[in-house]
Amino acid sequence: MKGYIIGPVKVALTYLFGFFFHAGPIKKTPITIKAGNHGTTVGVGTETLPLFEHTPHISPNSRGLIGLAPKNCTGCSKCALACPNKCIEMTPVDPPIYTWELQARAKGKEPRPLKFPEIYFGRCMFCGLCTEACPFEALFHTPLYETSVTTDEKSGMHYTWQAMEQVLKEGNPELYQKIEDKWKKLIPELEAKAAELEKAKTPEN
Ligand code: SF4
Ligand code: SF4
Repeated sequence: MKGYIIGPVKVALTYLFGFFFHAGPIKKTPITIKAGNHGTTVGVGTETLPLFEHTPHISPNSRGLIGLAPKNCTGCSKCALACPNKCIEMTPVDPPIYTWELQARAKGKEPRPLKFPEIYFGRCMFCGLCTEACPFEALFHTPLYETSVTTDEKSGMHYTWQAMEQVLKEGNPELYQKIEDKWKKLIPELEAKAAELEKAKTPEN
């Protein structure tokens, strides 16, 4: 008989606890932060933040959108070969970027045609295999994660290498600057070497 009373009371108390526990946040002022171009709700106000501004709380080691440092890229294609989802397409860069051309001239060679990776993020699973495969520190994940699109916008998921450079610039500005600084130092050295080789080739009158 006792059980017939205690059982329903326990159930009623559990339901009441659940109701008040979950009803608590209803009293709080809702805040909606619209992230990026796509207006995804990532938090609780009505504030529109431009793309990338809401990400500082994300770990710098997180595997978000992939950025490219074109000055470091040699077009070796290792990233494209490593991608299990075939998201990376190597695309001709014409004319070759200055650092590439300069490195070849500093070795006394003609620059070979250069290709850079372009990524279709619509198929990417952010596994990190491509960034790990890059031997030249040219490809990096960034903390940027805003990639949600509607079906009609799917073509916007194809990032050109220029767009990938922008991702790195905005997603990891410190790293991007570090690579730029490295090249600022290297370029005069390579230019001097290339000029020296050019001079040695020119017959004296
Ligand atoms: S993160 Fe993975 S799936 Fe995405 S492009 Fe790189 S290798 Fe391919
Ligand atoms: S990003 Fe890295 S792996 Fe890919 S082509 Fe450039 S240098 Fe090679």
